Amino acid sequence: MLYIVATPIWNLEDMTYRAVRILKDVDMIACEDTRTSKVLFHHYDITTPLTSFHAHSSEAKIEALLREIEQGKDLALVSDAGTPWISDPGYAIIQKAIQKGIEVVPIPWPSAVITALSASGMSSHHFLYLGFLPVKKWRKTLFEKLQDKDHTVVIYESVHRIIRTLWDLENYFWADHHIVIWRELTKKFETFYRGSISEVRENFEKNSSQVKGEFVVLF
Ligand code: SAM
Repeated sequence: MLYIVATPIWNLEDMTYRAVRILKDVDMIACEDTRTSKVLFHHYDITTPLTSFHAHSSEAKIEALLREIEQGKDLALVSDAGTPWISDPGYAIIQKAIQKGIEVVPIPWPSAVITALSASGMSSHHFLYLGFLPVKKWRKTLFEKLQDKDHTVVIYESVHRIIRTLWDLENYFWADHHIVIWRELTKKFETFYRGSISEVRENFEKNSSQVKGEFVVLF
């Protein structure tokens, strides 16, 4: 069995009982970064053997992990935060496992996209999750395609690009288009920003101390 186990996006208390039980019961946990996961595992006294599995893991590593499952072992896959495969590694091993007829079981916890959406006040009947926007290729084409959008768009953004992305959104979606940004969800300095794109962009430009941490942008 391959368990895809979601873990908190920061706050250790957000771990689910089921996730803790599964992580204790499986034979091995494949972690994006074992050092990051150890903080969570130590907190919950999870002593299962760990192996590393990340975006650059080789085909051979995937095959080796799947062979262990085929020999009767249970493996859990976790990423550094949130749900594996949501803007995180996981695609290749899950695809291969499905092809081999291995049972893949999700152990849920909302990821940053759902957490941000849930308290955003934005329409969630239809929403489009785009993860990280392309930095160069397709960026312009994507913005052009989104201009007539009639649903909420959710993107992930890094501290290095948040202001540039706000400028781009301002140029493509008119300066007064409504936007919500969640910064540092579930963390000590969790903050939300609501307003027009230009208001929010100006705020970040004036207050560089707020251009820190992780961001989810909804527009
Ligand atoms: N797998 C994760 C999930 O389920 O949300 C996403 C991992 S992705 C590599 C990291 C990005 O997710 C960050 O750059 C940020 O945009 C968003 N993110 C993750 N945790 C966050 C948090 N606590 N607050 C705000 N954004 C967060």
